[in-house]
This record gives sequence, C-alpha cells and structure tokens, in this order.
Amino acid sequence: MDNIKKAAELILNSNKTFVLTGAGISTESGIPDFRSKTGYYSKMDPATALSKDVLLRNPERFYKEGYHILTDLNEQEPNRGHIALAKLEELGQINGIITQNIDNLHTKAGSKNVFEVHGETRGIHCMDCGSEFPFSVMKEKVEKGEIPPKCDNCGGVLRPNVVMFGDMMPDTFQRALGELYSTDLLIVIGSSLTVSPVSFLPDYVDKLIIINNDPTPQDNRADVVFHSSAGDVLTSILKEVEKGLNK
Ligand code: NAD
Ligand code: ZN
Repeated sequence: MDNIKKAAELILNSNKTFVLTGAGISTESGIPDFRSKTGYYSKMDPATALSKDVLLRNPERFYKEGYHILTDLNEQEPNRGHIALAKLEELGQINGIITQNIDNLHTKAGSKNVFEVHGETRGIHCMDCGSEFPFSVMKEKVEKGEIPPKCDNCGGVLRPNVVMFGDMMPDTFQRALGELYSTDLLIVIGSSLTVSPVSFLPDYVDKLIIINNDPTPQDNRADVVFHSSAGDVLTSILKEVEKGLNK
C-alpha cells in the first residue's frame, strides 16, 4: 500500500485525531521557517530578536528585527495545506490543530478548533494594564516612530500577543496537552520537532504521521513518514479520505 493510502486509512480508522503544525506548513504561503537553509536563522537570530529580554531592554532592536518577522507573516494567505486541514475538520476527520505558528493562517483557512500555543499576531496588549488592541494599532504607532509603542490608556509598553523566547507557555498549551491524552493519532506537519516542549507531544499518542521536508528525531517511531511538501501530501490525503468516506 502506498503511503497516502496508509495515512488516509489511519485517519479514517482513528477515533480522535489531532494535527501539530510548525513553520513548514506556511512556507508555501511565502513565510520562511526558522531552520531550513532559507529560514530566518540564515539572516538573524530570532531567538534574540524575538525575545522578551530584547523587547524590554533594547526596544530599538526589537522593532528593527523581530517585529518585522511579525509584520511579514501577518499579511500572507493560507495555502492548499491549510485549506485541506480545514476541510478534514469539516468532514469530521480531524478534531483540532495545535500550532506553533503565529501567522493566523489556520483560522484564515477556516479551521475552528485551533490551539495557538505560541500565540498569534491578530492582537497586542499592554504589559501594565492588560488592555487589548488589534495589531494595526501597533503598526500605526511604530510607523509614526513611537518606539516602543505605548498604551493609550495607561502609558505602559505594548507588546504582541506572541509567546516570545523567555516567556512562559500559555494556558492554551495545557489545554492542548489535555486533548492529547485521549488522542489516538497525531499528524505532525512542517515541524523540525526540535523546539521543546512541543517536541515531546508525539510521546502522548499511539499512532503518528509525519509530513516534513527534512528528517525529524521522531521519524523512526512514526507509522508513516513523508519527506515532501505539505501542500502536495495533504491535498492527496484529503482526496483519499474523501474516497474512503464515499465508499
Ligand atoms: P522549524 O523552522 O524548526 O522547522 C520547520 C520544518 O518544516 C523544517 O524541518 C523543514 O524541513 C520543514 N518544511 C519547510 N517547508 C516545508 C514544506 N513546504 N512542507 C513540509 N515541510 C516543510 O520550525 P518549527 O519547528 O515550527 O519551529 C520554529 C518556531 O518558530 C515555531 O515555534 C514557530 O512559533 C516559529 N515560527 C513561526 C512561523 C509562522 O508563524 N509561520 C514562521 C517561522 C517561525
Ligand atoms: Zn495600559
């Protein structure tokens, strides 16, 4: 049996399936990942540029480097990989998506049950009073040269709703873990599975499918592994699942 058929059968026979996505699902939308040859690490060190420490101690640098990663990815559109996942959820074949991405593309594609464990770039908040604003407020302020941008209610420093290096994982991560205890099948897409704690998530499930261009440390325990583009593989899996449902 070929791998597409095997993956479709695992999905059709699973009681509860979750998906874990990393930066690789969004490269086909024009957003670089971090660790591939063309990723952000080849140009800068995102671990520093997108850290809480730099935001607080060196806001000029944060708004020159890390901030641009956020605006770049905020303006892209979902690709056929995101769209296939939204369709699989609509068909009742996947129960939810845990994503490391902050590009909002799963929600833009129509996925409903999305756990954004590294936050999102739709909104910002004040570090002092907690007031929430849309991301556009930060953009306007930064473009006017207000660095760091300050809260109109209390004058505190505004920050993106993104989990940065040096931040704690949000409650969403605990809720995502809670879902995995009762999940049979996890489909990992476009994650190098090297960033903890997300890298441990495959340990919670029995069955595992991995779709990633480069090999990952969990390939040897997976039931099916694809070393190819997420858009292609997910479109083919969706077709095969639809065939199975129409039988
Ligand atoms: P990573 O950069 O460590 O790994 C991405 C993996 O995706 C690589 O192993 C690569 O081989 C694979 N890949 C790239 N394009 C692919 C494609 N079209 N099909 C299949 N596989 C493909 O990314 P990560 O493990 O997700 O961790 C990086 C962290 O950076 C994440 O925590 C995330 O929050 C953040 N990040 C987010 C975005 C985004 O929101 N789009 C972009 C860059 C980084
Ligand atoms: Zn405030």
